[in-house]
Parts: sequence; structure tokens; C-alpha cells
Amino acid sequence: MTPPRRIQLGVVIPAFNEESNIAAVVEATRRELDALGVDWTITFVDDGSRDHTREVIRQWNARDGRIRAVFLSRNFGKELAIAAGLRKATGDAIVVMDADLQHPPAAIRRFFEAWQGGAEVVLGHRADEMHAGFLRQLASRTFYPVFRLLSQMPLRAGTVDFVLLDRKAVDAVNRFNERTRFTKGLFRWIGFRTETVTFVADARTAGVSSFNFRRLLHFAVDGIVAFSSFPLRMWSGIGVLISSGSMLYAIYFLVRTLVHGNDVPGFPSLIVSITFLSGIQLLSLGVIGEYLSRIYEEVKARPLFLVSEELGDLEEAAAAGDSAAGTAPESSRAAEPAKSGSVSHAA
Ligand code: UDP
Ligand code: MG
Repeated sequence: MTPPRRIQLGVVIPAFNEESNIAAVVEATRRELDALGVDWTITFVDDGSRDHTREVIRQWNARDGRIRAVFLSRNFGKELAIAAGLRKATGDAIVVMDADLQHPPAAIRRFFEAWQGGAEVVLGHRADEMHAGFLRQLASRTFYPVFRLLSQMPLRAGTVDFVLLDRKAVDAVNRFNERTRFTKGLFRWIGFRTETVTFVADARTAGVSSFNFRRLLHFAVDGIVAFSSFPLRMWSGIGVLISSGSMLYAIYFLVRTLVHGNDVPGFPSLIVSITFLSGIQLLSLGVIGEYLSRIYEEVKARPLFLVSEELGDLEEAAAAGDSAAGTAPESSRAAEPAKSGSVSHAA
């Protein structure tokens, strides 16, 4: 009889300019994974870092083949870095977490236990936002209610992309080819047996957050556009309301002029209605623009990310059997140097 196969757990860590965090996150994560008694791998996705992140990862890979990496050809953004990681990482379940230890590796055990208990998607929920600035807290308090209303998806404030996905769920996410990605939304959207693990986020250990307010705003609009078409549709309703309003106004003026005569020419009301309506028109055009630009991005159907190098024994792209997915298969692969990782740990 062959002994039962050990559980394979993969951890995906997107990293962008995280040279001073890699060592700490590896050490802490490794300790947790060893304590779980599973076979594990850590897959870093270097998202076009401009510091020494790649060199640091390379050293770790040389020391321990279970630490693998995908180096993207440039900065594609966290959402696509996660997409790359999920396509490349192996394992019966995959944990996605940040490189800056804001997602404490010590919480992995609880994600793992929820999964062992039958959950197929385990979502992290950040209990506190004490480390977030005032503006950011305000933004997230406004964003989530609006998002829920527009998308009808039960996404709570504090939901982050610290997550454990069963292989089934990973394969499901890997079938998504959309580039305007709001990964937390996707993790909800796919369904499966979902549970939540609450954790307390630590402060970033080193470096600075790459998300400034502009980037967060862009991300928020991405999230709404990706999961709701209501902003696009509501304008016909608003249009009907406003035009029936101005019809009533016109009738009122007509009657008044007939009864009292025309005393003052309606200069103010003219200006008000013109500016109001042109404002509404520009706004609605703007909303159409938001969607249109993203539709344009999608129809170009460019690869989600391109890989410049891989370290270690990684899954082939398009793991979900979706040939349209992922990296440009032939060309980018040919451009890659030979895989340099050694995975002798398997012995
Ligand atoms: N990240 C990335 N690509 C980017 C920006 C960020 O892969 O373009 C990674 C980053 O290295 C970190 C995670 O995404 O592991 C979260 O980023 P950050 O800490 O800057 O965001 P915050 O915690 O402030 O939301
Ligand atoms: Mg962070």
C-alpha cells in the first residue's frame, strides 16, 4: 500500500518593490507551512519591481527550491500579478497574500482549517483599519455600500484579497480572461462553499504602499464597472425624469404667461437649465466612456500578463484548459530563458 499523499499547499505572493520584505515574509510563511505538516510551495510573482526584489527572490530560490517565482515583463498591477500567480502555482489549495506582512502568515492556519472543514473559498476579512489613513477609511466606507447596491454582491468593507482557494476554485478563477479585474469581487462571484476568516492587519513592515488615492479611485471604478452595468443604464431613467420635469416647467410657464403676461424674461431659469442639462449630459457621456474604454481594453484581448522568467517547477499557463488564457503561449515562452529553478526538495 502506498502511503497517503501529503496535502500540497501553494502560496502566491505578488510583489512590487518589496526587496526589504521578502526575507521576513518567507521566514514567517515557511514556519507556518511547516507547522501545518503539508507539502508546500511559495510562488512569488514579481510585478516588474524596480528595486532588488528579483535578486532577493533568486537567492531564496537557490536556497530552497520550494520557493519559486514568476517574473513579469513589467508592472501589470496587483490584480494581474495575482492572476499570473494563480495560473502558475501548484497545489490542492492556494493561498494568496501580500508580501508586506499586512496579511499575517500566522492566520494561514485558520484558512487551512476552514478549507479542511469543507470550505472551497476562504476569504480574509480585515477586522480593523487602524493602519489605514483617514482618507482611505472614508473611501472604503463609501465604496462598499455603493458597490453592494450597484452589483448586488455581498462584499463587505474589510474584504481583502488574503484568500485560500481550493483547486476547484483556482481553476474557476483561471478561466476568467477579463483584464479589468476586481479580484475580491471575482472570489465572491465564482460561488463555491465560502467561509470568512477575520484577521487583524498589521502595519506594513517596510517600504510604502503602492496604492495612492488616484490608484485606489481607479480601482474602485474598475470594481464597479466590472460588476455592475447599472451606472450605464440609469441615465435613461434620469433622462426621462428630467425631461418630464422640464415639460411640466414649460407648461407652468405657458400657463403663467397666459394668465399674468410675460413680466421678466426667464434669464436665470434658462441658464440654470442649460448648465444643469449639459452637466448631466457630460456626466452620462463620461460614464459611457468608463465602460467603453474598458470594453476596448477587453476586445483587444491582449494577454493578461507576460512572463520574462520563471524560477522553479511551475504550472504551465492556461492550467484550466482554456487555451485563450494567460501568457502569450508560444512567443513569450520562446523568449524565456531556460527554467533555472531546481526542485530537488521533492526527493
Ligand atoms: N503589488 C503588486 N503590484 C503593484 C502594486 C502592489 O504586485 O503594482 C503587491 C505588493 O507588493 C503587495 C500587495 O500587492 O504585496 C499589496 O500592495 P500594497 O501593500 O502596496 O497595497 P496596500 O496594502 O496598501 O493595499
Ligand atoms: Mg500593503
